[in-house]
Amino acid sequence: MQPNKLYLNGEWIATDQSLEIINPATEETIGRVCTIDRDGVKTALNHARDAFEGWRSLPAKTRADYLLSIASKMNDRGEEIAKTIIQENGKPLAESRTEVAVAVDHFRWFAEECRRSYGRWIPNQVAGKRHLVIKSPVGVVGAISPWNFPLFLSARKIAPALAAGCPVIHKPSELTPLCAIAMAQAIDDADIPKGVFQLILGDAKMIGEEMLENPICRKITFTGSTAVGKSLIRGAAADVKKLSLELGGQAPLIVFDDADLNRAVEGALAAKFRNAGQSCIAANRFYVQRGIYDRFVEAFVARVRAMKVGDGLEAGVEIGPMVRERGLQSALAQVQDAIDRGAKLMCGGKRLARKGFFLEPTVLANVAVDSLCMREETFAPVAPIVQFTEESEAIRMANDSWAGLSAYCFTSNLDRAFRVMERLEAGTIGINDGVPSTSIAPFGGLKQSGWGRELGSEGLDAFLETKHVSFGMSE
Ligand code: ADP
Repeated sequence: MQPNKLYLNGEWIATDQSLEIINPATEETIGRVCTIDRDGVKTALNHARDAFEGWRSLPAKTRADYLLSIASKMNDRGEEIAKTIIQENGKPLAESRTEVAVAVDHFRWFAEECRRSYGRWIPNQVAGKRHLVIKSPVGVVGAISPWNFPLFLSARKIAPALAAGCPVIHKPSELTPLCAIAMAQAIDDADIPKGVFQLILGDAKMIGEEMLENPICRKITFTGSTAVGKSLIRGAAADVKKLSLELGGQAPLIVFDDADLNRAVEGALAAKFRNAGQSCIAANRFYVQRGIYDRFVEAFVARVRAMKVGDGLEAGVEIGPMVRERGLQSALAQVQDAIDRGAKLMCGGKRLARKGFFLEPTVLANVAVDSLCMREETFAPVAPIVQFTEESEAIRMANDSWAGLSAYCFTSNLDRAFRVMERLEAGTIGINDGVPSTSIAPFGGLKQSGWGRELGSEGLDAFLETKHVSFGMSE
């Protein structure tokens, strides 16, 4: 099997090292991708530095046109890319197609925002002075992305950085680099100037260290675990390297007595089981009010039992495998821990007796709030449900977490919706909405869920520096 090449300084380059890619539904090797060493990372950074001046100097409209071209090349190959996502990540076809569509939309959104990186003119305070605020690209960007949404989590870093005028070096997850290669192909097909975008793969820690220590790299944008995010923060201290971090989540989902039951069940299914629960905004802690508790649990469990689990390529599959054995084992341990503490297993809870990392979608009722699954990030199709009585109790439990990425609330009471949204400690809140994230609105976390925002207009700002220019002049 010939390893796939990396994209460096406008060329596809082979190296003598590679790593293998596994299909989580079959545990078979589906490909290999080349890797580089630390000197290779340094060389990529040098190329990016050399490309910076030319790229930032282009009119914003020209950069926008490149982004639109990338979007259309990705769209043209959408079906092929969706199949790649299924094969290396495991998610079902419908979700993979959505992922491509969202990634394409990210490029389109930032092509539009590219033309709006406005500064401002400040009315003068004293005679003989004028003040201007201008925006400049931050410089060379290192983008490190994870495996769970391998295409769009990369796109929401690469597109705004390019739009802002920054060269980008992308380091995808070693579990899902084939999607990144597909995106790099679209970028190459759009004839982007050499060195403006590069794709590397190799030892993650080494690459992170080079990006942190090399002064050419001005910013690292990272999505991944809170543990690695913290290590990047420590490493960034030496040179005060700029970081954007989208880290773990442990989203609460609150269902009030006054909720529309059907909406709450459908919203909860979407918020919980997308990508087999392996999403940083997945609903991981369900709080359901006493008056609706039995009806919600019954309707929710009925829908979960009916979900078809299998290889994402099979027709009608709604839940694919988890990405690897480690995640599956930690989910099984969380389920056992909850049962040991008195939870009732309503459905699922077992590994499927077949090849691949399949876990049955699982619902646990009457879960103790100190169970592992209520405290640690659950990156799995496991829904633990807790009963509550008062609104204030639900808000307190929802906020009682190290994480603050997203939260969900189902209610038909407008006053309550406002009270709850104002108090929930989360960067993204879905009110009667299980799929709140979109290109057009900012996304990021409070507390240990990260620093900064992606998407929206904030997503472009993350790659721009703000400068104040003061003019002395004669009136
Ligand atoms: P997960 O455990 O879900 O795979 P990680 O945080 O380990 O999440 O991975 C997210 C991304 O961060 C991946 O691209 C991975 O290769 C990368 N990564 C892992 N360790 C480091 C590190 N020490 N420095 C920089 N990047 C890292």
